[in-house]
Amino acid sequence: MAFDVDFFVIGAGSGGVRSARIAAGHGAKTLVAEESRVGGTCVIRGCVPKKLLVYASRFRAEFEDAAGYGWTLPHASFDWPTLIANKDQEIARLEAAYTATLQKTGVTIVKTRAVLADAHTVQLANGERVRAAYILIATGGSPSYGEPISGVEHAISSNEAFHLRQLPPHVLVQGGGYIAVEFAGIFAGLGAQVTLVYRGENILRGFDDDVRSHLRMDMEKHGIRVLTGCKVAAIEQTAARFSVHLSSGNQLSADCVMFAVGRRPNVAGMGLEAVGVGIAKNGGIAVDEYSRTSVPNIYAIGDATNRVNLTPVAIREGAAFADTVFGARPTAVDHTNVPTAVFSDPEIGVVGLTETQARARLKQTDIYRSMFKPLKATLSGRDTTLLLKLVVDGVTDRVVGCHIVGEGAAEMVQVAAIAVKMGATKADFDATMALHPTTAEELVTMRQKSASYARAAAE
Ligand SMILES: Cc1cc2nc3c(=O)[nH]c(=O)nc-3n(C[C@H](O)[C@H](O)[C@H](O)COP(=O)(O)OP(=O)(O)OC[C@H]3O[C@@H](n4cnc5c(N)ncnc54)[C@H](O)[C@@H]3O)c2cc1C
Repeated sequence: MAFDVDFFVIGAGSGGVRSARIAAGHGAKTLVAEESRVGGTCVIRGCVPKKLLVYASRFRAEFEDAAGYGWTLPHASFDWPTLIANKDQEIARLEAAYTATLQKTGVTIVKTRAVLADAHTVQLANGERVRAAYILIATGGSPSYGEPISGVEHAISSNEAFHLRQLPPHVLVQGGGYIAVEFAGIFAGLGAQVTLVYRGENILRGFDDDVRSHLRMDMEKHGIRVLTGCKVAAIEQTAARFSVHLSSGNQLSADCVMFAVGRRPNVAGMGLEAVGVGIAKNGGIAVDEYSRTSVPNIYAIGDATNRVNLTPVAIREGAAFADTVFGARPTAVDHTNVPTAVFSDPEIGVVGLTETQARARLKQTDIYRSMFKPLKATLSGRDTTLLLKLVVDGVTDRVVGCHIVGEGAAEMVQVAAIAVKMGATKADFDATMALHPTTAEELVTMRQKSASYARAAAE
């Protein structure tokens, strides 16, 4: 059977771009279809622009610290349009760089929507059809707005937050996940009044309970109002503002209402059902450990599969797919011990098991915990504390979890993740010489087993 290409990728995001590059490197004739911008969520409307906004918001703390170190600064003022224009310029540069790299490796890019017509045929929105030996669905995900409520059309998602014309004076963010707490920190750091509304008992469900309590405490200290156990019931436009009705009966006014209540895989309207590609219970495309769907020549990776929705994971899955299919090197991705960060204020970095998960799975769990004011904030008196926590298997002595809240948490955990992945024991951590004076040295100097923070706080 003759094919137009060896490999057709639907979606030029993190995973799609990587798989295309590696497959082309293995000699596959490769075509990528992208309906929006090359780079996908991470580059265009996710990790990268988010981190740039996070950097902008952190200058507030730097200015506060500076005074304690003897600096007198003129009154600092912030201009949102400048930040957004500079961010957009950088994103355009990255998009061009991604496009050029793909083209240099011999990949053809078509800027159009693509869906499945049959197991080997992709239908493009411009009317063309392409026959491919292998098809990869790397369509990512999109923001969800949750249950329909009156006035939901007034709410923005993270997609629009990156393009607001001005910084809203009062923002109401609904959601308790990482995107919600990150944007709450960004808006507050840049000078907005922020209220975070979350229907659950506490923010960051799935994270270690100590981390959740610690972040909430610090967010509240930094002026973010956190309302849990309620949700937005209706949004009404009142002149240039919004009146937000909460399920608790309260009513708040805001200039901007942002929903960050979850994301759903982009699988609708893709022709999956007709071709026989199965959907998993989590709403993503069902795949095996090699990212193969229920149709043998169709694979799916990244957020479209709703496994671990992070850029490095999508990239690994894309590379593993290309090596498996075009490099004759079957490669499965290990989804355990994936380090992850939340660029909230303060920042979070975690890898491995939470205390609750460890206690449910292990015979004996030991906890080591340290909480202190960072040296940098001592002279300024800035009100912030760091939390470092190790979760240790009490039988094997292996460090099975590392959780850090505070400046530099993500950088520290990226390195600690190597040790956790290698199976390092608490004795290995203890045998490592401290590097002084740093925050990370606490990781190798914690000697006393501790009660969990939640319990310690209650006692
Ligand atoms: C606000 C925000 C912040 C984030 N921060 C982080 C972070 O700090 N760290 C981290 O690791 N991850 C972060 N993520 C998650 C990360 O962006 C995703 O996990 C990652 O981009 C997934 O890559 P992907 O290749 O699966 O899909 P995507 O990057 O979403 O790419 C999918 C591409 O497919 C295109 N597409 C969809 N359907 C079609 C179609 N039918 N035809 C043609 N093209 C199509 C889309 O336009 C898109 O370009 C963040 C996400 C968001 C929203």
